[in-house]
Amino acid sequence: MAGIEIVQGDITTQAVDAIVNAANSSLMGGGGVDGAIHRAAGPTLREECRHLRATDYPEGLPVGDAVATGAGDLPCRYVIHTVGPNRHEGQIDPRLLASCYTRALDVAQQLGVRTIAFPAVSAGAYGWKVADVARIALGTVAAHPRDGIDLVRFVPYDPTSCVAFEAAFAGLA
Ligand code: ADP
Repeated sequence: MAGIEIVQGDITTQAVDAIVNAANSSLMGGGGVDGAIHRAAGPTLREECRHLRATDYPEGLPVGDAVATGAGDLPCRYVIHTVGPNRHEGQIDPRLLASCYTRALDVAQQLGVRTIAFPAVSAGAYGWKVADVARIALGTVAAHPRDGIDLVRFVPYDPTSCVAFEAAFAGLA
């Protein structure tokens, strides 16, 4: 599929215009990929997130929505924060997870982002099977018009996740 690739690794090192963060609703940082992004970006990202929370999202960023900030010390220009569904809280509707990918691409387009990297949203602490995440993620991105976006890179962190994304990618053909 043109413009989509899978590269196993650490999303914080990707040389793309925007990376997507699997944030939590508080936008105050957490573990997993969220923690890695905040550590690598430095304090300005935390400040921007705090400001967003205090202004546009006093109740927190809703599950399935996305919002952009700058990227602090990261090599990209923007971080697009999305909140995946948490299976441990009964959030099992795949449309919520698909919405994370759709909304992140919508926000990217509004910013003029041409290259974007996604992690496996909800596949860690939020308890979704990575094979399900990979299938939903690939299917959603493939179906999105993606006008103006040249490259969507999926960045599974570990070999098992990478196999799941490769299989989902093969399933698109
Ligand atoms: P969630 O709470 O949405 O499940 P997690 O951060 O716990 O988010 O996990 C999401 C996925 O991100 C998991 O597959 C995890 O292995 C992966 N991950 C963790 N650190 C990184 C990183 N630095 N780069 C890319 N993916 C990462």
